[in-house]
Amino acid sequence: MSGVEAFAHFSRRDGELCAEQLTLNGLGDQFGTPCYIYSAAALRDNFDAYTEALSGRDHLVCYAVKACSNIAILQLLAERGAGFDIVSAGELERVLLAGGDPAKVVFSGVAKTAAEMRRALEVGIHCFNVESAAELEVLATVAAELGLRAPVSLRVNPDVDAGTHPYISTGLKENKFGIAIDGAEAIYQRAAELASINVVGVDCHIGSQLTDATPLLDALERLLALVDRLAAQGIELDHIDLGGGLGVRYRDEQPPTADDYLSQVLTRLAGRPQRLVLEPGRSIVANAGVLLTETIYLKQSGDKHFAIVDAAMNDMLRPSLYQAWMALENAATSQAPEHCYDVVGPVCETGDWLAKERLLRVSPGDRLVLFSAGAYGFTMASNYNSRTRAAEVLVDAGRAHLIRARETLADLTRGEQLLGRD
Ligand SMILES: *Cc1c(COP(=O)(O)O)cnc(C)c1O
Repeated sequence: MSGVEAFAHFSRRDGELCAEQLTLNGLGDQFGTPCYIYSAAALRDNFDAYTEALSGRDHLVCYAVKACSNIAILQLLAERGAGFDIVSAGELERVLLAGGDPAKVVFSGVAKTAAEMRRALEVGIHCFNVESAAELEVLATVAAELGLRAPVSLRVNPDVDAGTHPYISTGLKENKFGIAIDGAEAIYQRAAELASINVVGVDCHIGSQLTDATPLLDALERLLALVDRLAAQGIELDHIDLGGGLGVRYRDEQPPTADDYLSQVLTRLAGRPQRLVLEPGRSIVANAGVLLTETIYLKQSGDKHFAIVDAAMNDMLRPSLYQAWMALENAATSQAPEHCYDVVGPVCETGDWLAKERLLRVSPGDRLVLFSAGAYGFTMASNYNSRTRAAEVLVDAGRAHLIRARETLADLTRGEQLLGRD
Protein backbone atom coordinates (compact mmCIF):
# COMPACT_ATOMS: atom_id res chain seq x y z
CA MET A 1 0.00 0.00 0.00
CA SER A 2 1.21 3.48 -0.74
CA GLY A 3 2.13 5.33 2.41
CA VAL A 4 -0.02 8.32 1.64
CA GLU A 5 -3.35 6.47 1.58
CA ALA A 6 -3.12 5.80 5.29
CA PHE A 7 -2.28 9.38 6.17
CA ALA A 8 -5.16 11.80 5.99
CA HIS A 9 -4.09 15.41 5.48
CA PHE A 10 -0.89 14.31 3.69
CA SER A 11 -1.93 13.63 0.13
CA ARG A 12 -0.51 14.07 -3.35
CA ARG A 13 -1.69 16.79 -5.73
CA ASP A 14 -0.29 17.04 -9.27
CA GLY A 15 2.50 14.73 -8.19
CA GLU A 16 3.46 16.86 -5.20
CA LEU A 17 2.95 15.57 -1.68
CA CYS A 18 1.14 18.12 0.47
CA ALA A 19 0.55 18.82 4.13
CA GLU A 20 -3.04 20.05 4.07
CA GLN A 21 -2.95 22.77 1.38
CA LEU A 22 0.82 23.30 1.16
CA THR A 23 3.35 21.28 -0.84
CA LEU A 24 6.11 19.68 1.18
CA ASN A 25 8.65 20.88 -1.41
CA GLY A 26 7.43 24.43 -0.91
CA LEU A 27 7.78 24.00 2.85
CA GLY A 28 11.28 22.60 2.31
CA ASP A 29 12.19 25.72 0.28
CA GLN A 30 10.83 27.95 3.03
CA PHE A 31 12.14 26.21 6.15
CA GLY A 32 15.01 24.02 4.98
CA THR A 33 15.62 20.37 5.85
CA PRO A 34 15.57 18.23 7.88
CA CYS A 35 12.24 19.52 9.09
CA TYR A 36 9.33 18.05 11.02
CA ILE A 37 5.99 19.06 9.54
CA TYR A 38 2.75 18.53 11.46
CA SER A 39 -0.85 18.87 10.31
CA ALA A 40 -3.11 20.77 12.69
CA ALA A 41 -6.21 19.14 11.18
CA ALA A 42 -4.80 15.67 11.78
CA LEU A 43 -4.00 16.54 15.40
CA ARG A 44 -7.51 17.85 15.95
CA ASP A 45 -9.13 14.84 14.26
CA ASN A 46 -7.08 12.36 16.26
CA PHE A 47 -7.78 14.08 19.57
CA ASP A 48 -11.46 14.56 18.80
CA ALA A 49 -11.81 10.85 18.02
CA TYR A 50 -11.23 10.22 21.73
CA THR A 51 -13.52 12.89 23.09
CA GLU A 52 -16.31 12.03 20.67
CA ALA A 53 -16.14 8.35 21.59
CA LEU A 54 -16.44 9.36 25.26
CA SER A 55 -19.16 11.97 24.97
CA GLY A 56 -21.79 11.37 27.62
CA ARG A 57 -19.30 9.75 29.97
CA ASP A 58 -17.24 11.62 32.57
CA HIS A 59 -13.72 11.51 31.13
CA LEU A 60 -10.34 13.19 30.91
CA VAL A 61 -8.04 12.62 27.93
CA CYS A 62 -4.49 13.37 29.04
CA TYR A 63 -2.24 13.62 26.00
CA ALA A 64 1.13 11.98 26.74
CA VAL A 65 3.52 14.89 26.30
CA LYS A 66 6.59 12.74 25.68
CA ALA A 67 5.23 11.64 22.29
CA CYS A 68 5.66 15.16 20.89
CA SER A 69 6.17 18.02 23.29
CA ASN A 70 6.35 21.19 21.19
CA ILE A 71 4.45 23.89 23.09
CA ALA A 72 2.40 24.91 20.03
CA ILE A 73 1.11 21.35 19.74
CA LEU A 74 0.31 21.27 23.46
CA GLN A 75 -1.46 24.63 23.03
CA LEU A 76 -3.57 23.32 20.15
CA LEU A 77 -4.60 20.29 22.22
CA ALA A 78 -5.18 22.33 25.40
CA GLU A 79 -7.54 24.57 23.42
CA ARG A 80 -9.59 21.47 22.60
CA GLY A 81 -9.82 20.53 26.25
CA ALA A 82 -6.93 18.11 26.56
CA GLY A 83 -5.32 17.26 29.84
CA PHE A 84 -1.72 16.07 29.87
CA ASP A 85 0.25 13.06 31.06
CA ILE A 86 3.73 14.22 32.07
CA VAL A 87 6.84 12.33 33.14
CA SER A 88 9.11 15.17 34.29
CA ALA A 89 9.19 18.71 35.66
CA GLY A 90 10.32 19.81 32.20
CA GLU A 91 7.14 18.49 30.64
CA LEU A 92 5.11 20.25 33.34
CA GLU A 93 6.72 23.59 32.46
CA ARG A 94 5.91 22.98 28.79
CA VAL A 95 2.25 22.36 29.63
CA LEU A 96 2.09 25.55 31.70
CA LEU A 97 3.82 27.59 28.96
CA ALA A 98 1.32 26.22 26.45
CA GLY A 99 -1.63 27.37 28.56
CA GLY A 100 -2.55 23.87 29.70
CA ASP A 101 -4.66 23.53 32.84
CA PRO A 102 -2.57 22.05 35.69
CA ALA A 103 -5.78 20.64 37.19
CA LYS A 104 -5.90 18.30 34.17
CA VAL A 105 -2.32 17.01 34.53
CA VAL A 106 -1.40 13.51 35.64
CA PHE A 107 2.23 12.88 36.58
CA SER A 108 3.67 9.45 35.71
CA GLY A 109 7.22 8.12 36.01
CA VAL A 110 9.22 5.83 38.26
CA ALA A 111 11.74 8.39 39.51
CA LYS A 112 9.91 11.57 40.47
CA THR A 113 12.16 13.70 42.67
CA ALA A 114 11.06 15.69 45.70
CA ALA A 115 11.68 18.91 43.74
CA GLU A 116 9.44 17.72 40.92
CA MET A 117 6.74 16.74 43.40
CA ARG A 118 6.92 20.15 45.07
CA ARG A 119 6.45 22.01 41.81
CA ALA A 120 3.54 19.78 40.77
CA LEU A 121 1.86 20.23 44.16
CA GLU A 122 2.31 24.00 44.03
CA VAL A 123 0.62 24.31 40.64
CA GLY A 124 -2.14 21.90 41.69
CA ILE A 125 -1.99 18.94 39.32
CA HIS A 126 -4.85 16.48 39.04
CA CYS A 127 -3.00 13.40 40.21
CA PHE A 128 0.33 11.71 40.86
CA ASN A 129 0.54 8.26 39.32
CA VAL A 130 2.66 6.72 42.07
CA GLU A 131 4.87 3.83 40.96
CA SER A 132 6.32 2.49 44.22
CA ALA A 133 5.85 2.34 48.00
CA ALA A 134 9.03 4.40 48.42
CA GLU A 135 7.71 7.14 46.15
CA LEU A 136 4.49 7.29 48.16
CA GLU A 137 6.41 8.00 51.37
CA VAL A 138 8.47 10.78 49.79
CA LEU A 139 5.35 12.34 48.28
CA ALA A 140 3.59 12.23 51.66
CA THR A 141 6.51 14.03 53.29
CA VAL A 142 6.76 16.69 50.58
CA ALA A 143 3.01 17.35 50.66
CA ALA A 144 3.02 17.57 54.47
CA GLU A 145 5.85 20.12 54.36
CA LEU A 146 3.77 22.26 52.01
CA GLY A 147 0.63 21.78 54.10
CA LEU A 148 -1.10 20.16 51.12
CA ARG A 149 -2.72 16.82 50.34
CA ALA A 150 -1.32 15.07 47.30
CA PRO A 151 -3.91 13.45 45.00
CA VAL A 152 -2.68 9.93 44.29
CA SER A 153 -3.40 7.06 41.98
CA LEU A 154 -1.28 3.93 42.14
CA ARG A 155 0.12 2.79 38.84
CA VAL A 156 -0.40 -0.93 39.04
CA ASN A 157 1.22 -3.49 36.88
CA PRO A 158 -1.55 -5.85 35.83
CA ASP A 159 0.92 -8.45 34.49
CA VAL A 160 -0.51 -8.70 31.00
CA ASP A 161 1.65 -9.12 27.93
CA ALA A 162 0.97 -6.28 25.55
CA GLY A 163 2.39 -8.34 22.70
CA THR A 164 4.41 -5.42 21.38
CA HIS A 165 8.13 -4.67 21.01
CA PRO A 166 9.97 -5.53 24.27
CA TYR A 167 11.25 -1.95 24.61
CA ILE A 168 7.71 -0.56 24.59
CA SER A 169 6.04 -3.29 26.63
CA THR A 170 5.58 -2.09 30.21
CA GLY A 171 2.86 -4.17 31.85
CA LEU A 172 4.73 -7.35 32.76
CA LYS A 173 6.01 -8.14 36.25
CA GLU A 174 9.61 -7.95 35.07
CA ASN A 175 9.26 -4.36 33.87
CA LYS A 176 10.43 -1.48 36.04
CA PHE A 177 7.06 0.27 35.83
CA GLY A 178 4.24 0.30 38.35
CA ILE A 179 3.37 -1.70 41.44
CA ALA A 180 2.62 -5.42 41.08
CA ILE A 181 -1.14 -5.71 41.26
CA ASP A 182 -0.93 -8.35 44.01
CA GLY A 183 0.89 -5.94 46.30
CA ALA A 184 -1.25 -2.92 45.49
CA GLU A 185 -3.88 -3.31 48.23
CA ALA A 186 -1.34 -3.05 51.03
CA ILE A 187 0.05 0.15 49.52
CA TYR A 188 -3.46 1.58 49.11
CA GLN A 189 -4.06 0.85 52.80
CA ARG A 190 -0.87 2.68 53.68
CA ALA A 191 -1.84 5.61 51.41
CA ALA A 192 -5.24 5.83 53.06
CA GLU A 193 -3.56 6.23 56.46
CA LEU A 194 -1.32 9.10 55.38
CA ALA A 195 -2.92 12.46 56.22
CA SER A 196 -1.14 14.27 53.39
CA ILE A 197 -2.25 11.77 50.73
CA ASN A 198 -5.63 11.79 49.05
CA VAL A 199 -6.30 8.49 47.29
CA VAL A 200 -8.21 9.29 44.10
CA GLY A 201 -7.60 6.62 41.51
CA VAL A 202 -5.88 3.68 39.93
CA ASP A 203 -3.96 3.55 36.71
CA CYS A 204 -1.95 1.35 34.42
CA HIS A 205 -0.10 1.71 31.14
CA ILE A 206 0.82 -1.65 29.69
CA GLY A 207 2.76 -0.71 26.58
CA SER A 208 2.77 1.15 23.33
CA GLN A 209 1.81 0.52 19.71
CA LEU A 210 -0.82 -2.06 20.68
CA THR A 211 -2.58 -3.23 17.55
CA ASP A 212 -5.11 -5.36 19.40
CA ALA A 213 -7.39 -4.12 22.20
CA THR A 214 -7.42 -7.47 24.03
CA PRO A 215 -4.47 -6.82 26.37
CA LEU A 216 -5.89 -3.39 27.23
CA LEU A 217 -9.28 -4.90 28.02
CA ASP A 218 -7.63 -7.67 30.08
CA ALA A 219 -5.80 -5.00 32.03
CA LEU A 220 -9.07 -3.14 32.58
CA GLU A 221 -10.70 -6.30 33.98
CA ARG A 222 -7.87 -6.69 36.47
CA LEU A 223 -8.10 -3.04 37.44
CA LEU A 224 -11.85 -3.33 38.00
CA ALA A 225 -11.39 -6.37 40.22
CA LEU A 226 -8.92 -4.34 42.27
CA VAL A 227 -11.33 -1.39 42.43
CA ASP A 228 -13.96 -3.75 43.86
CA ARG A 229 -11.59 -5.26 46.42
CA LEU A 230 -10.58 -1.77 47.54
CA ALA A 231 -14.20 -0.65 47.81
CA ALA A 232 -14.86 -3.65 50.07
CA GLN A 233 -12.07 -2.30 52.31
CA GLY A 234 -13.59 1.17 52.36
CA ILE A 235 -11.31 2.74 49.74
CA GLU A 236 -13.45 4.34 47.05
CA LEU A 237 -11.76 5.62 43.91
CA ASP A 238 -12.83 8.58 41.77
CA HIS A 239 -11.12 7.60 38.56
CA ILE A 240 -9.75 4.73 36.52
CA ASP A 241 -6.86 5.58 34.20
CA LEU A 242 -6.16 3.06 31.45
CA GLY A 243 -3.02 4.76 30.18
CA GLY A 244 -2.16 5.12 26.51
CA GLY A 245 -0.81 2.57 24.11
CA LEU A 246 -3.27 2.45 21.24
CA GLY A 247 -1.30 1.63 18.09
CA VAL A 248 -1.26 3.33 14.72
CA ARG A 249 -0.78 2.21 11.16
CA TYR A 250 2.83 2.55 10.07
CA ARG A 251 2.67 -0.01 7.28
CA ASP A 252 -0.17 -2.52 7.22
CA GLU A 253 -1.14 -2.73 10.90
CA GLN A 254 -4.87 -2.66 11.61
CA PRO A 255 -5.13 -1.20 15.10
CA PRO A 256 -8.60 -0.61 16.51
CA THR A 257 -9.83 2.95 16.11
CA ALA A 258 -10.27 5.01 19.27
CA ASP A 259 -14.00 4.50 18.81
CA ASP A 260 -13.75 0.68 18.51
CA TYR A 261 -11.50 0.46 21.51
CA LEU A 262 -13.45 2.85 23.71
CA SER A 263 -16.84 1.34 22.97
CA GLN A 264 -15.49 -1.90 24.44
CA VAL A 265 -14.08 -0.04 27.43
CA LEU A 266 -17.36 1.77 28.05
CA THR A 267 -19.29 -1.48 27.96
CA ARG A 268 -17.11 -2.82 30.76
CA LEU A 269 -17.47 0.39 32.76
CA ALA A 270 -21.25 0.51 32.55
CA GLY A 271 -22.83 1.25 35.91
CA ARG A 272 -19.57 2.36 37.50
CA PRO A 273 -19.33 5.92 38.79
CA GLN A 274 -15.61 6.45 38.19
CA ARG A 275 -14.35 8.97 35.69
CA LEU A 276 -12.35 7.40 32.84
CA VAL A 277 -8.88 8.86 32.31
CA LEU A 278 -6.73 8.03 29.27
CA GLU A 279 -3.15 8.90 28.35
CA PRO A 280 -2.84 8.55 24.58
CA GLY A 281 0.31 9.81 22.87
CA ARG A 282 1.24 8.01 19.67
CA SER A 283 -2.33 7.63 18.42
CA ILE A 284 -2.77 11.42 18.50
CA VAL A 285 0.48 12.59 16.90
CA ALA A 286 2.22 9.78 14.99
CA ASN A 287 0.32 10.14 11.74
CA ALA A 288 -0.07 13.88 12.17
CA GLY A 289 3.60 14.47 11.36
CA VAL A 290 6.23 13.75 8.72
CA LEU A 291 9.97 14.25 8.56
CA LEU A 292 11.13 16.02 5.41
CA THR A 293 14.70 15.37 4.33
CA GLU A 294 16.83 16.17 1.29
CA THR A 295 18.86 13.67 -0.71
CA ILE A 296 22.52 14.65 -0.67
CA TYR A 297 24.16 11.81 -2.62
CA LEU A 298 23.29 8.57 -4.31
CA LYS A 299 25.86 5.87 -3.94
CA GLN A 300 26.20 2.34 -5.24
CA SER A 301 28.35 -0.26 -3.60
CA GLY A 302 28.22 -3.61 -5.37
CA ASP A 303 24.53 -4.28 -5.93
CA LYS A 304 23.52 -2.05 -3.07
CA HIS A 305 22.02 1.38 -3.67
CA PHE A 306 22.16 4.02 -0.99
CA ALA A 307 20.27 7.28 -0.85
CA ILE A 308 22.20 9.45 1.58
CA VAL A 309 19.96 12.11 3.07
CA ASP A 310 20.37 15.04 5.44
CA ALA A 311 18.25 13.54 8.25
CA ALA A 312 19.77 10.94 10.53
CA MET A 313 19.23 8.78 13.58
CA ASN A 314 19.75 11.85 15.76
CA ASP A 315 16.64 13.36 14.15
CA MET A 316 14.56 10.15 14.07
CA LEU A 317 15.72 7.30 16.26
CA ARG A 318 12.86 4.82 15.80
CA PRO A 319 14.35 2.81 12.91
CA SER A 320 17.71 2.40 14.71
CA LEU A 321 16.23 1.80 18.16
CA TYR A 322 13.24 -0.41 17.34
CA GLN A 323 13.97 -1.51 13.76
CA ALA A 324 10.81 0.45 13.02
CA TRP A 325 9.39 0.47 9.49
CA MET A 326 8.13 3.87 8.42
CA ALA A 327 6.70 4.73 5.02
CA LEU A 328 8.96 6.83 2.83
CA GLU A 329 8.28 8.51 -0.51
CA ASN A 330 9.70 11.10 -2.82
CA ALA A 331 8.00 14.47 -2.17
CA ALA A 332 7.44 14.79 -5.93
CA THR A 333 6.92 12.12 -8.57
CA SER A 334 10.21 11.42 -10.32
CA GLN A 335 11.34 9.97 -13.65
CA ALA A 336 14.66 8.80 -12.20
CA PRO A 337 15.42 5.09 -12.62
CA GLU A 338 13.84 2.91 -9.93
CA HIS A 339 16.19 1.10 -7.57
CA CYS A 340 15.97 -0.65 -4.26
CA TYR A 341 17.51 1.80 -1.79
CA ASP A 342 18.69 1.90 1.77
CA VAL A 343 18.01 5.44 2.94
CA VAL A 344 20.75 6.43 5.35
CA GLY A 345 21.90 9.55 7.15
CA PRO A 346 25.22 11.34 7.77
CA VAL A 347 25.86 9.98 11.28
CA CYS A 348 28.93 7.77 11.75
CA GLU A 349 27.05 4.63 12.83
CA THR A 350 26.03 1.64 10.74
CA GLY A 351 22.74 1.79 12.63
CA ASP A 352 22.06 5.20 11.13
CA TRP A 353 19.28 4.46 8.67
CA LEU A 354 15.73 5.66 8.12
CA ALA A 355 14.48 3.00 5.73
CA LYS A 356 15.86 -0.17 4.16
CA GLU A 357 15.22 -1.89 0.85
CA ARG A 358 12.70 0.55 -0.57
CA LEU A 359 11.86 0.88 -4.24
CA LEU A 360 12.35 4.54 -5.02
CA ARG A 361 12.87 6.92 -7.89
CA VAL A 362 15.19 9.58 -6.55
CA SER A 363 17.85 12.03 -7.71
CA PRO A 364 20.29 14.07 -5.64
CA GLY A 365 18.51 17.17 -4.35
CA ASP A 366 15.11 15.45 -4.21
CA ARG A 367 13.28 15.70 -0.93
CA LEU A 368 12.04 12.51 0.68
CA VAL A 369 9.17 12.26 3.15
CA LEU A 370 9.25 9.89 6.11
CA PHE A 371 5.67 9.34 7.28
CA SER A 372 4.25 8.66 10.74
CA ALA A 373 7.04 10.72 12.26
CA GLY A 374 4.96 12.84 14.63
CA ALA A 375 5.32 10.61 17.69
CA TYR A 376 8.65 9.79 19.33
CA GLY A 377 10.38 11.69 16.54
CA PHE A 378 11.53 15.15 17.49
CA THR A 379 11.24 14.35 21.21
CA MET A 380 13.90 11.66 20.89
CA ALA A 381 16.21 13.85 18.80
CA SER A 382 19.73 14.52 20.01
CA ASN A 383 22.77 16.52 18.99
CA TYR A 384 24.85 13.40 18.31
CA ASN A 385 27.67 14.12 15.85
CA SER A 386 27.18 17.81 16.74
CA ARG A 387 24.20 18.04 14.47
CA THR A 388 21.74 20.85 15.07
CA ARG A 389 18.22 19.68 15.76
CA ALA A 390 15.65 20.10 13.00
CA ALA A 391 13.05 22.81 12.60
CA GLU A 392 9.40 22.06 13.40
CA VAL A 393 6.54 23.50 11.38
CA LEU A 394 2.79 23.26 11.97
CA VAL A 395 0.57 23.53 8.90
CA ASP A 396 -2.99 24.69 9.45
CA ALA A 397 -4.98 24.65 6.19
CA GLY A 398 -3.05 27.11 3.97
CA ARG A 399 -0.75 28.54 6.65
CA ALA A 400 2.60 27.32 7.87
CA HIS A 401 3.77 28.27 11.37
CA LEU A 402 7.38 27.81 12.38
CA ILE A 403 6.92 26.30 15.86
CA ARG A 404 10.58 25.58 16.53
CA ALA A 405 13.48 27.24 14.79
CA ARG A 406 16.26 25.03 13.53
CA GLU A 407 19.07 25.02 16.07
CA THR A 408 22.12 27.11 15.28
CA LEU A 409 25.76 26.15 15.62
CA ALA A 410 25.93 28.51 18.62
CA ASP A 411 23.18 26.45 20.30
CA LEU A 412 25.45 23.41 20.14
CA THR A 413 28.02 24.71 22.58
CA ARG A 414 25.73 26.82 24.77
CA GLY A 415 26.63 26.13 28.38
CA GLU A 416 30.04 24.66 27.58
CA GLN A 417 33.17 26.27 29.05
CA LEU A 418 36.80 26.24 28.01
CA LEU A 419 39.25 25.50 30.82
CA GLY A 420 40.73 28.57 32.49
CA ARG A 421 44.46 28.90 31.66
CA ASP A 422 45.52 31.53 34.21
C1 LIG B 1 4.47 6.75 27.04
C2 LIG B 1 3.32 6.73 27.96
C3 LIG B 1 2.03 6.97 27.49
C4 LIG B 1 1.71 7.15 26.03
O1 LIG B 1 1.83 5.98 25.31
P1 LIG B 1 1.42 5.90 23.75
O2 LIG B 1 1.76 4.53 23.36
O3 LIG B 1 2.22 6.93 23.05
O4 LIG B 1 -0.05 6.18 23.68
C5 LIG B 1 1.00 7.00 28.41
N1 LIG B 1 1.23 6.81 29.74
C6 LIG B 1 2.46 6.58 30.23
C7 LIG B 1 2.65 6.37 31.68
C8 LIG B 1 3.55 6.52 29.36
O5 LIG B 1 4.76 6.26 29.85
